[in-house]
Amino acid sequence: MTDKEMWYETLHAGFGQYFSVDKVLYREQTGHQDLVIFENSVLGRVMALDGVVQTTERDEFIYHEMMTHVPLLAHGAPKDVLIIGGGDGAMLREVNRHQNIEKITMVEIDAGVVTFCKQYLPNHSQSAYDDPRFTLVIDDGVNFVSQTSEKFDVIISDCTDPIGPGESLFTSDFYQGCHRCLNPNGIFVAQNGVCFLQQDEAVNSHRKLGHYFADVSFYQAAVPTYYGGIMTFAWASDNPELRQPDAATIASRFAAAGLTCRYYNPAIHTGSFALPQYLLNALAD
Ligand code: SAM
Repeated sequence: MTDKEMWYETLHAGFGQYFSVDKVLYREQTGHQDLVIFENSVLGRVMALDGVVQTTERDEFIYHEMMTHVPLLAHGAPKDVLIIGGGDGAMLREVNRHQNIEKITMVEIDAGVVTFCKQYLPNHSQSAYDDPRFTLVIDDGVNFVSQTSEKFDVIISDCTDPIGPGESLFTSDFYQGCHRCLNPNGIFVAQNGVCFLQQDEAVNSHRKLGHYFADVSFYQAAVPTYYGGIMTFAWASDNPELRQPDAATIASRFAAAGLTCRYYNPAIHTGSFALPQYLLNALAD
């Protein structure tokens, strides 16, 4: 990849998106994946891992607000939060905004992503890594959730797609481990791909999660650079009421948290659990 060329994403064969590379800021073959961060005139700084867009400065807020404020406000009183992946630091930035949380742990397999994103994507993490409640663990997420004795109220799997190191975060072992280290009334959420193009991933996650959790579904948001339609977020807990809180409760918790967001609001929260019929049909098969 060099300056002034076009870069074509490799996630899907036969249908994709491209970016003009105005300037390559950093590239490294870390011990786990091929990491590149480059400037694009429309999206700002873009980070890709193994040829797949992970995040861009312009639209990251949609994904990170939805992956944090939905489960945290649905739970109502989270104290211990676990982030799996999330090396760019934006998920941590949004979790930190909830003052009632006492402990935040992030398990990231690739220390290089944390290091290089702190330097080249400073707007993602901002000062999030300095939060005194925060602990960084460098490990494979599936190892951590299978072995830790810690318990969490919300687990957020901010992982890559199920290729390369991310593959282990879509396995039954990982889901079983997450269920094991959740407190009662705990909530698990995970990025689960664009269901129009990655429907099998949603169906497989739904089936596997259903072996361990009593209530499994998805919620959704359209994130422009996760192209192809709505991105689905897997949702799993043992208490179905957590997925369908009344709007007034979410609104009062949102107000009490004192959050100002650019995508998330209480109406988006409750509306995001409405799913397209083609996905509901696939999950019912
Ligand atoms: N928002 C992005 C998306 O939806 O594609 C994910 C962004 S974040 C950069 C993905 C992170 O997951 C990366 O930092 C990657 O190193 C990390 N990761 C991949 N596999 C992992 C694993 N098995 N355990 C822990 N972290 C992992």
